[in-house]
Amino acid sequence: MPELVRVSYGTAIAMGLIRAKLLAKPTTAYLMTYWPGRCSNDCAFCAQARSSRADLEKLSRVVWPAFQIEKVLRALPAGNFVRICLQTIEYPGMLDDVFGLLEAFSLINLPVSVSITPVDSDVLEGFRSLGVDHIGVGLDAASERIFSDIKPDTSWDEVWDFAERVVDVFGHGKAVIHIIVGLGETDKELVDAFIRARELGADVSLFAFTPIKGTRLENLKPPSVERYRKIQLARYLVDIGMEDTIIFEGNSIAGFALSGEELLRIPPAVFMTHGCPGCNRPYYNERPGKEPYNYPFPPKGDEVLKSLGIIP
Ligand code: SF4
Repeated sequence: MPELVRVSYGTAIAMGLIRAKLLAKPTTAYLMTYWPGRCSNDCAFCAQARSSRADLEKLSRVVWPAFQIEKVLRALPAGNFVRICLQTIEYPGMLDDVFGLLEAFSLINLPVSVSITPVDSDVLEGFRSLGVDHIGVGLDAASERIFSDIKPDTSWDEVWDFAERVVDVFGHGKAVIHIIVGLGETDKELVDAFIRARELGADVSLFAFTPIKGTRLENLKPPSVERYRKIQLARYLVDIGMEDTIIFEGNSIAGFALSGEELLRIPPAVFMTHGCPGCNRPYYNERPGKEPYNYPFPPKGDEVLKSLGIIP
């Protein structure tokens, strides 16, 4: 078993490892494999990437201090979490560490999600036997056009093939494909990716691109909240088979062919963090005090309709 594991700052506060005020309590314990160096991959947006100069303790906006694994295992019950989410970075021996951590977590009796770069199906079977029930699949870039620039160490086809194998091993809806909005893809490309995911039986979890100083994309602007809301709504409409109601102008979403009443009936959960059951991922992409991209709790309907431009 590895000696250390990284714990997201909010998770560490929720389980009493750090004393600080929590803005929103994480409902899932977010943990990350520990490695003293950088990830061997070079995803353009990522603080952990091999060419990044960003703080090694960061992933997206979040700081992940390292703790002794025994200390974390002792403190986990105090967080009242409903799930453990283990993020991995690529390094020699990573899989041994993941299996060691999963064995340790199996004593805690919580469902576990693992986010990982493509691995063989027998490895997935091994994860399943240790209590893993969802796999995070990092597609990240929603378009093949930009994929190799954003993620030079893997291929578009390899990631989709991985998602398909995850569905084979874990079942319908258990592959959660991570997609980042704002990497240079079009709205149409996002919607096409949502449709492809649905057709293979996978779910989609949306993230907003967050520029991190020291990464290749440090100067790219994050998406507007207005665009993000449209994409969240489009993801939901694809999910329920209503993609025909999405109106495109060129490759951008211009609106939705929904009546005012249908728009008012959209569940607020559409605008919340969407991923594995029990994941609320507070402040992963957002700055406290600003309107969140993904709400960690149900938003008021009128707040969201305002940001969609449906009501003034
Ligand atoms: S594989 Fe994951 S941790 Fe590594 S650079 Fe890509 S996104 Fe970052």
